[in-house]
Amino acid sequence: MSKIIVLMGAPGAGKGTQARLLQERLGLPQISTGDIFRALAKANTPLAEEVRAIQQAGRLIPDEVVIRVVEDRTAQDDCRNGYVLDGYPRTAAQARMLEELAARQNKKLSTILIDVPQELLEKRMTGRRSCPVCGEIYNTYFRPPKFDNKCDFHLGAELTHRADDTAEKVRVRLETYNRETAPLLEYYKRTGRLHRVDGTQKREAIYAAIQNILNSDSVATVQ
Ligand code: AMP
Repeated sequence: MSKIIVLMGAPGAGKGTQARLLQERLGLPQISTGDIFRALAKANTPLAEEVRAIQQAGRLIPDEVVIRVVEDRTAQDDCRNGYVLDGYPRTAAQARMLEELAARQNKKLSTILIDVPQELLEKRMTGRRSCPVCGEIYNTYFRPPKFDNKCDFHLGAELTHRADDTAEKVRVRLETYNRETAPLLEYYKRTGRLHRVDGTQKREAIYAAIQNILNSDSVATVQ
């Protein structure tokens, strides 16, 4: 049975980095609702304007909108053999929809928490930069690029800083996560499907831990 790999964790935990590695190495599409809505927000329409305002404030986009986007995206052909969700589900309603979706698509959920202490998350986000060409993720504190504010692979490209990665927005996003999303971990734990990896390790060590979980799925869930 093919899998839906669900990467859980606070904003700044490294879900995007690991989802990109899984996509590159396992060939499973990375579905990042944050990326989808950031792309959508660039248009010049009332919906785009609304999405932009919500994202920039660090609040959540309404469930019915997010659910529709995920239904559409995961119905595409490249998702047939499984996919990686990054940033979804974030609310109880989204988690319920995902159960239905998995049953309908005949796929098994593998839920992995990338666990990072709250005090580290702030620096992870305020220092985060990404390449507008290839999406490579850097951090001015922990993983600086070789040349100042330039992608190692695309020297012509200035790295970008997300509008919601400022200290003030980061605080709102962490509060939203603790209130809306963290309770979902209890639910996955109770149903014996939560795996945990230590997200303070280096990216390759985290990737190796995720690989181990995927290779031996039914064992070693968090009790
Ligand atoms: P991310 O890149 O995952 O940190 O998401 C950035 C922003 O996009 C969030 O702060 C929300 O405004 C919006 N967003 C992304 N995924 C979701 C989701 N599953 N539910 C609601 N809003 C979301």
